[in-house]
Amino acid sequence: MIYPVFLPHAGCPFQCVYCNQRVTVSGGGQGPLAGFAASRMADYANQVRRSGRPGEIAFYGGTFTALPRGLVEEILSAASAWVERGIFTGVRFSTRPDCLQGDIVEMLSSYPVRTVELGVQSLSDSVLKESGRGYGAESVYEAARRVKGRGWKLGIQLMAGLPGDSRELFLRSVRSALEIGADFLRIYPVLVLEGTSLAESYRAGLYAPLSLDEAVSLLAPAYDLAMRSGVAIIRMGLQADPELEKPGVILAGPYHPAFGSLVKCRWWQEKIDAHLGSLPEFPGSEMVVHVAPNQVSDAIGNRKANLLHWNSRWGITAKVVGEAGMTGMEMTWKTKSSNQDTSR
Ligand code: SF4
Repeated sequence: MIYPVFLPHAGCPFQCVYCNQRVTVSGGGQGPLAGFAASRMADYANQVRRSGRPGEIAFYGGTFTALPRGLVEEILSAASAWVERGIFTGVRFSTRPDCLQGDIVEMLSSYPVRTVELGVQSLSDSVLKESGRGYGAESVYEAARRVKGRGWKLGIQLMAGLPGDSRELFLRSVRSALEIGADFLRIYPVLVLEGTSLAESYRAGLYAPLSLDEAVSLLAPAYDLAMRSGVAIIRMGLQADPELEKPGVILAGPYHPAFGSLVKCRWWQEKIDAHLGSLPEFPGSEMVVHVAPNQVSDAIGNRKANLLHWNSRWGITAKVVGEAGMTGMEMTWKTKSSNQDTSR
């Protein structure tokens, strides 16, 4: 469980070219931040008492460790009191890699920090520079070492489709994030949001976002890399939000309310395509794909997209069934005449 307290743009040294948290984060902090954080924590405490489900209290949005030191300590002291009372299991927050210097890490160590989410966005120096992030990849490596050195969980947030990025550079960033020990990833394709400098570049014809299909086909191999490393991608694409979906907020870009499902669906499609392509001949005309029950809808795809794809590309009838205890995938085949399993 994560109990998020959103502090939009709080502590940010400047507004990044693609970022407008006034539209991507609703229910965020307004007015004095310590008071807002305290009242959200009290609300969550009541919720936890009712549900009996403690979890980490998270300070998201903005750059938590770049807030004035006294304010960070005030918020963390209040959070620690709830942790001591068993309401929260610890503290997590998001921050920029260049805002996690040694003295700040030292200060944070006196509080029950469990997880740090770094808004890395890319591990390519050229992409970071073109996107005006204000730090290079070395800052990311340093911050990651500090987080891991304290035994905190490391989350890394990456973006796809940044100015100057390419498929190769993006996938290299994903590999690097996994190599430096990310415990989990979040990946967001860049959207052109009103009120950002990217919107101006877009209007001037200087920036073109990824199409939805390009973004999905870029994220599918990233998902594969993470799966193979045993690292979860806990979110792909911005969370659907009525504020975000208001007309005129997203000017362009690969937004879809179920973006993560589209990526997983594509991943299944490509995985099974590769397997089918490797078979000298098909053992039957009907393919049954056995997966874990929670994977069925992703493997079938939105509106049976994958079943239709396998039928049109390979001329077979496909079915996906959930099997408890299944890890990965198994395939069985039937022939239309016998309706019997012919191979597994
Ligand atoms: S991307 Fe992060 S650092 Fe940049 S403006 Fe948004 S919240 Fe602040």
